[in-house]
Order: sequence, then C-alpha cells, then structure tokens
Amino acid sequence: MSIVSEPIRIELPTQFEMGTVNAYLFKSPVPTLIDCGEKTEDCWSALVAGLENNGLKITDLKRVIITHAHVDHMGMAARVAKESGAKVWVSEMVKPWAIDLAGMQAIRWDTITGLLTEITNQKDSPLHQGFAKFFNNYKEYWEVIPPESVTTFQVGDSLTLGDGKWEIMYAPGHCVNQTCFYNHDTKELIAADMLLRIASTPVIDADLKDPSKRAGGLEVMIKTMKKYMALELSTVYPGHYDPIQNGNELLQHQLDRINARIDQTHDLIKGGPIGFFEVLQSMYKGRVSGPAIPMMIGYLDVLQTNKMIVSSQTPDGIVYSINAN
Ligand SMILES: [Zn+2]
Repeated sequence: MSIVSEPIRIELPTQFEMGTVNAYLFKSPVPTLIDCGEKTEDCWSALVAGLENNGLKITDLKRVIITHAHVDHMGMAARVAKESGAKVWVSEMVKPWAIDLAGMQAIRWDTITGLLTEITNQKDSPLHQGFAKFFNNYKEYWEVIPPESVTTFQVGDSLTLGDGKWEIMYAPGHCVNQTCFYNHDTKELIAADMLLRIASTPVIDADLKDPSKRAGGLEVMIKTMKKYMALELSTVYPGHYDPIQNGNELLQHQLDRINARIDQTHDLIKGGPIGFFEVLQSMYKGRVSGPAIPMMIGYLDVLQTNKMIVSSQTPDGIVYSINAN
C-alpha cells in the first residue's frame, strides 16, 4: 500500500488562462496516469518531476488513460507513450482524435466557422480571426499518437485503478467525448472537466453521430450535471484546480447560476430584437473572454430549444427576438 493516498495529483502547466491541468497517478496495479498535459518542455519536466516525487520514472508508466480529446489533457500523450512504452487508453469516441488528429481538428474547425458565419453573416470576420488564432496556436502543443500505442475502453466498463474499481461513465457537455471515472465503493469521482471549481465551458464541436451538425453544448452539459448531481459524491478529482469535497452542492450552485444567466438573457431579449454581440456585451460587460462566447451561445440555444426566442438573419448577422407564438 502506498502512503500517499491515490489518485496522486500531478499539476502540469498549460498555455491556457486557468494555468495548470491535473494528471492523476495510480501506482497500482500498474503505474497509470490519467491525462498527461500538453506537448511542451515545461509540461514534460513537471511530469518527470511529479513521477520522481513518487519514486517513479517515465519508463515505469504502463498506461496513460485519457478523459477527453482536448489539448491540455492529451497533447503530450504521444511523447509519453514513445518514451515510456506505455499504452494510451482512450474511449472509442476519443480514438479518432488520438490517431487522426488533423482530420478531427478540421471537422471541429468547420463546425466553429459554420457557427461564426451564422452569427456574423460573414465568411470571415474579426471573430473568425480570433478563433483561428487560438485554434492554430494550440496545434503545436498536440501530437498525433501512433495507432499501435492506442488501446480503447468502453463506456460502462470498469477500470482497476489503485485498489478500486472505477466505472467508466459518459459525461458530454464540456466536450462530446468526455468520460468520468466513478468508484461506487468510495463515491470518489475522477471528473475531468465535467465539474471544476469555476464552471466548465461547453466547447464548440461537431456532433458525434452527425459531424455536419453542431453538438449540443450547454444543453447537454446541463443534463450531464444533473445526472452527476444524482450520484453520491465524496471527493471529486477535477481536470483543473484542487480536489472538490462538496461536489453535489457545487453542481447545484453552478446549475442555479446557469439558469439565472439564461433568465437574464431572456430579459435582455424582451427589451426588443437584439444582435449577438449586443447581447454578449450586455451579459459580459466588457469582460468577453474565450469561454464567454460558447456560454452565450449555450444560453441562447436553451432559450431557442424552449421556444422562448427566435432568431433571424440580417445583413449584420443574427438577431434574437421573443417568440410571439
Ligand atoms: Zn481541461
């Protein structure tokens, strides 16, 4: 038995605003890492140091399990696999991202540009350029994995990690291919980015079944949060920041906050037809950061699905108004 309780958190630096991403180490039954950071030298050094603190070398690693296909969680997986000989374990949903990264990035980019074109009524705009810069920037931190290093797991199966069995559970919303791992005996949850101290964001991506469509985003995220709220949660190990002890409460709090923001959006639209950027500025008061846009799109999606608002296209882009029917 190890003295340090597992999973052991190893914080790795990222390029993103939130600063770091968590990798989680289980030393038994075989040395296993859950998520592994971006492909940078800083991240590599932090991982090597983190393993060393726990008496391990990179070459001791046997498995790298990936929670979801985002650069900060799997960008460095190819290097870890290459230098350790470890297999990279991914869900069937993440597998295309592991072995055909460029292809999947192109599909995601098509979905993003399609949405931005719908919002702006332009094929290219400052918004397109902003997203392109962000999107292309992180490509250098993410490397494709040779198929022979990849092993797949199925949702519903369990993984033996430490001395526990962890159920592999689907957790879409933050992204379409996210999985969490739940220990029914200890009620611990390895949550990836399903639950973070600061509310997670529904990243714009293609639908899993029909990539020509945009995935559900916030609406799906809300359903997932409710599903996990119904579980008994002890310690939650999130993809970023410290472990969470009040997971059920935090989920409720974040859902309440999302609902309040949806109501606020509805109230703004009640004031008369309003364009996307106008509603965005009113909601975020000059604090429009990366996550603001997908959240805003999510609030509008929920209102449209509930038939409370309608959208129409104008030469200057999309405009929202109250559904009079
Ligand atoms: Zn993340």
